[in-house]
Amino acid sequence: MLIEGKTLASQIKEKIRQKVKRLSFRPGLAVVLVGEDPASMIYVNSKEKACEEAGFYSKKIVLSADISQKKLLQEIKKLNNDDKVHGILVQLPLPEGFDEKQVIQSIKPEKDVDCFHPVNVGKLTLIKRNGDLDSLLAPCTPKGVVKLIESTGEKISGKKAVIVGRSNLVGKPLALLLLAENATVTVCHSKTKDLKKETKEADILVAATGKPGLIKKNMVKKGAVVIDVGINRVKGKLVGDVDFDQVKKIAGFITPVPGGVGPMTIACLLENTLLLAKKNLDKGSGVC
Ligand code: NAD
Repeated sequence: MLIEGKTLASQIKEKIRQKVKRLSFRPGLAVVLVGEDPASMIYVNSKEKACEEAGFYSKKIVLSADISQKKLLQEIKKLNNDDKVHGILVQLPLPEGFDEKQVIQSIKPEKDVDCFHPVNVGKLTLIKRNGDLDSLLAPCTPKGVVKLIESTGEKISGKKAVIVGRSNLVGKPLALLLLAENATVTVCHSKTKDLKKETKEADILVAATGKPGLIKKNMVKKGAVVIDVGINRVKGKLVGDVDFDQVKKIAGFITPVPGGVGPMTIACLLENTLLLAKKNLDKGSGVC
């Protein structure tokens, strides 16, 4: 069965829009883009559009790829001090030559909407299962993945979840979220010896590698929930990391690319911005 990420994301966005209408202030999101990478440009524009549709204050800052690290840090400092901005997102990856780690650490943790700052990553490692994912500040893509799995109605608790990909953006935080949901989690990566052996055992299989068609039918357990995070452009077409046409015949549930994880990432970005804005109101409640 197809997991309709686009539909689920629209429902979440509509709920947020209704909540924002009842607020006495506008939650604000600033997105910073350095350089003119076409894919990043598309992501940033769709984030801006989603913000406006939800009734948020939105600020897009596009900087040339040849600005200095110092200038970029100055821009972030301005946003840290801007009361209208509750969430700051720097579109990654940054062009070569920038110190990404320093940039991430320069964002105030209480405005770190994608939960990448070490303080927020640390807090994420300490979460206990409370079932209330909506009010948890967690990286947008992994949060969206858990919501997609939940939308199938399949229980996560006690299931074997295999994540292929161990990046700081997706694989690692997702492992923490699924652990908090009581899954038994295996994280695979490019040095995993027998990938097929691992994936074949998964009740929940998440692919986040950026390798088109890596996950084949013979690597998937019958009836598994398969979530494809990958976004790859092959011959002008967007495809995931899963061989969709083959795997859909054996999976119990599967996300499409496009229309699966991507829209959920944006919905969770709005959700996180709203969370930060509300936390800013009752200051001192901390993040994550
Ligand atoms: P990354 O390059 O940082 O990490 C890729 C991971 O995949 C690494 O841990 C690597 O070890 C693993 N890997 C690579 N080849 C492998 C192989 N043959 N077998 C097993 N593991 C392998 O990438 P990322 O930032 O985590 O992104 C992964 C994919 O997800 C990309 O296609 C990216 O565009 C996509 N993505 C989508 C969204 C979304 O909103 N849909 C958000 C973030 C990333």
